[in-house]
Amino acid sequence: MQKRKNKYKFDTLQIHAGSRPDPFTGARQVPIYQNTAYVFKSILHAEALFNLQELGHIYSRLSNPTVSVLQERIATLEGGIGAICCSSGHAAQILSLFPLMHPGDNIIASSRLYGGTIQQFSNTIKKFGWKANFIDIDDFKAINKAADSNTKAIFCESISNPGGHVTNLPKVAKIAKKLSIPLIVDNTAATPYLIKPFEFGADLVIHSTTKYMSGNGTSIGGALVDSGTFNWSKNKKFPSLSEPEAGYHGLRFHDTFGPYSYIIYGIAVSMRDLGMTMAPQNAFHTLLGLETLSLRMKQHVNNAIKVSKWLEKHPLIEKVSYAGLSSSRYAKIVKKIFPRGAGALFTIALKDGYEACKQLVNNVELFSHVANLGDTRSLIIHPASTIHRQLTKKQLIKADLALNVVRLSIGIEDPADLINDLKQALDKRIQN
Ligand SMILES: *Cc1c(COP(=O)(O)O)cnc(C)c1O
Repeated sequence: MQKRKNKYKFDTLQIHAGSRPDPFTGARQVPIYQNTAYVFKSILHAEALFNLQELGHIYSRLSNPTVSVLQERIATLEGGIGAICCSSGHAAQILSLFPLMHPGDNIIASSRLYGGTIQQFSNTIKKFGWKANFIDIDDFKAINKAADSNTKAIFCESISNPGGHVTNLPKVAKIAKKLSIPLIVDNTAATPYLIKPFEFGADLVIHSTTKYMSGNGTSIGGALVDSGTFNWSKNKKFPSLSEPEAGYHGLRFHDTFGPYSYIIYGIAVSMRDLGMTMAPQNAFHTLLGLETLSLRMKQHVNNAIKVSKWLEKHPLIEKVSYAGLSSSRYAKIVKKIFPRGAGALFTIALKDGYEACKQLVNNVELFSHVANLGDTRSLIIHPASTIHRQLTKKQLIKADLALNVVRLSIGIEDPADLINDLKQALDKRIQN
């Protein structure tokens, strides 16, 4: 959990960070420690571990050696000082907020988020006494206006799912700094290969590792990464970290652990009591996926550019919402903060409405009709009737999701095959 200036570059770190040959067996790949508990050396050793005077594995709800390798690797790739992996992206969102929030507190959240996140933030977190104030994250005045004395964070996606909108992270980070609250960025759709939000002022990053990070559509998982730069004691806004914590015999986390306080709180209190643990098998699959992250992201981006350019010219397509196109209103900010491309997730609006969407989704052969994204395989879905179904009409409009919109997650197949597949599916509509 140390911030180091790494001598290695991204392609090397995605394979090596956090792992070394197993000291006992020499095994070169990270072993799956399918294990729940760890033998204490003595009573004193056990005491030191429970007092957080010594760091080590106690019980796999809190930490596990296989999961630890993944945590270190993701922290390194994002340029953070530490990470916690957990059972899902949704778990990572709750985990990110838990040390910051108390009943009556609120967050400012972008109205363009993954549908499941809008749902979690609109309804479920209310049961904890938390609230989300949704705003258009491109409207900087609205962000400031939405803040009050109980606002504890700003939450947005670097590239938003499903619209492929890009967030002006430097601007939003500046606002968060002025408000003395952390900026939490969901970096799922971009991955640290395309952007490291910490470089643009974000304080915390979360991931659904279910998507590009694991890449193969095998394992649900999440990660929370801390930049280590936020001062939790600057004001009295974050008592769980700056004041004596009743849940841990009155320990003052920030006083005791400094920049590591947020991550240690996340393990010692949040994971202990919420139990949203990542399984070692899932950590292993995610580590395998991460080894090829940069190679996959390059091909994802190249394919997305080719497919979106072709779609833009198609007579049945009203609009392609892809920030990687020069026609996008995000073209300028993409150039500035996404030099490696704007990802491979975007939406298309069809001129002939919902019927045409149904026909397209039903007629594709290579694209899979699933509720996932960031797979090596190309995926297609009609958000308004599926992943965004629980959203109100107003929420759908704010998320830029009309009934005639289809989401594409472009995979790493041959781009000509992907274009041909979309062509034959769209041609069926022309012929009818
Ligand atoms: C999928 C997704 C999530 C939720 O992650 P799960 O692993 O499915 O719980 C959160 N944010 C974004 C951007 C996602 O795409």
